Amino acid sequence: MNMEYSGRDTERTSQLPATVDAVVIGAGFSGLYMLHRLVSLGLKVQGFEAGSGVGGTWFWNRYPGARCDVESLEYSYSFSPELEQEWRWSKRYSEQTEILSYINHVADRYDLRPLIRFDTRIVSQVYDETRQMWDLVTAQGQSIAARFCIMATGNLSTPRVPDFAGIELFEGKWYHSALWPAEGVDFSDQRVALIGTGATGVQMTPKIAQQAKHLTVFQRTANFSVPARNAVLDDEADRTHKASYPARRQQAARTSFGISGVPAPTRSALDLSPDERARSYEAIWAQGGSVYFLSTFTDLLTSKAANDTAVEFVNRKIRSIVRDPKTADLLSPLDHPIGTKRLCVDTEYYETFNRGNVSLVDVRAAPIEEITATGIRTADAHYEVDAIAFATGFDAMTGALREIDIRGKGGLTLAEKWVHGPTTYLGLMVAGFPNLFVVTGPGSPSVKGNMVHSIEQHVDWIAGCIAHLRSNHVAAIQPQAAAERDWVAHVNEVADGTLYPLADSWYSGSNIPGKPRVFMPYVGGIAAYSAICRDVVASGYRGFALVGDTSAL
Ligand code: NAP
Repeated sequence: MNMEYSGRDTERTSQLPATVDAVVIGAGFSGLYMLHRLVSLGLKVQGFEAGSGVGGTWFWNRYPGARCDVESLEYSYSFSPELEQEWRWSKRYSEQTEILSYINHVADRYDLRPLIRFDTRIVSQVYDETRQMWDLVTAQGQSIAARFCIMATGNLSTPRVPDFAGIELFEGKWYHSALWPAEGVDFSDQRVALIGTGATGVQMTPKIAQQAKHLTVFQRTANFSVPARNAVLDDEADRTHKASYPARRQQAARTSFGISGVPAPTRSALDLSPDERARSYEAIWAQGGSVYFLSTFTDLLTSKAANDTAVEFVNRKIRSIVRDPKTADLLSPLDHPIGTKRLCVDTEYYETFNRGNVSLVDVRAAPIEEITATGIRTADAHYEVDAIAFATGFDAMTGALREIDIRGKGGLTLAEKWVHGPTTYLGLMVAGFPNLFVVTGPGSPSVKGNMVHSIEQHVDWIAGCIAHLRSNHVAAIQPQAAAERDWVAHVNEVADGTLYPLADSWYSGSNIPGKPRVFMPYVGGIAAYSAICRDVVASGYRGFALVGDTSAL
């Protein structure tokens, strides 16, 4: 196998503490903030991270063009006014390297690194009902016990490398976007195949095209993309934003996506004449950004007729940019309402198909059959390539949790419990798995908004909950089965009131063969969701069972 990546597990020999108050698994945005909060509460904590450094998503996804599609002044921690003021983002949307530098800065500034065991995967996690403790084992066979386990394992952290026949015979090198070599890849003078046209493939395409001798993009499903309009963040914009940071953060918390500065839509797309509507879309297209685009009208994600107007606009744009009509047609999505799969944000994606060294192959019409020693064979042709970049996505939202052998009360595994799809209460906890918290789990807004905002909201909730348990000498908390059932029903009911279920996507697990089809994110919006979480606490942790007395232990 020629796959190259950094951050391999390495043997760690130093002893772990036998027992801690809490274990935090994952050292991305979630894990770092969770560690910080728990240490501030006076808990003894141990962090674990499979990679060799902090950063999570931003540690692993080093592919060309990797960049966040939420503006950096929003996609950043709000818990520290000093941190907010001192960090200077260089661009409207930062690239992976800059976000990774920021996360490293946070780890050092709050002295979090010594709390983390790097290059270490947790492979098993078993709840002992008598001691009301979790017993965890690392891949290296070391053990640790903890009262609380916080899964900060990420939503998009289990890469999906398709098992194409013949991949082991390929004589060139191949790479998955989320396991990209830290030292980068030089595609100069190479014929490169790119498989996958989701948000990752859309970011990679222009960058690889600038370097490669020839880039062939293998597309199964066309995705919608809107321009980022990325730009240097000038001093004035930086100063203005920072001067009103507290108000902006509060405003973000009142929105659906957790982002400030996006004007709330006031009109239906269907209330305007075609000309007025086109002018609105043009203005938003010129401004750039997916959240802005989806906020053009009130009903783009709830009314098919309204959505069709946006589909028509973007498909017209594609045809105006891409010179070859056949390629433009292939790039125009027909099978899902815009925004029901992740709306991509790009820099010259469609323009790239006008280059002489880029071609698009429709692998829906003629699927990939095998990878050969020298290239890719589809149902109707063989493409000779020197390297393959897979942008084939992730086993999203549940993949990282299912990779660990998690056993709750009565020995029930999480995989068994979730055999028909994930069930949680508030996306935070699972009935039968006491004191196991999930940061931005299935059933929470998580991927449907500004992740950093959602992470902070979850971490604050979990920290508040643990503080409550400790001050009241409560040994364990878990959701009541009825509350979990009602929450899952509510998540589905809210999704069914939107257009989201009309798309096949990783939101519903349909990108993974055999994965149960369940719509996983909560799409009621961040503001509504946070209000529910606050209300649950205010009503004495409604829907949770708090059991056991630690003063007796
Ligand atoms: P993805 O959205 O799941 O896209 C995977 C792509 O691979 C799809 O085009 C899929 O085609 C294709 N594919 C999978 N198996 C294939 C096969 N056997 N043959 C041909 N094509 C195949 O994954 P992603 O692009 O990595 O994005 C995942 C998520 O990560 C995004 O939705 C977003 O939330 C996040 N992300 C964010 C950013 C950002 O902030 N800018 C950037 C990158 C990623 P089908 O659609 O036909 O299955």
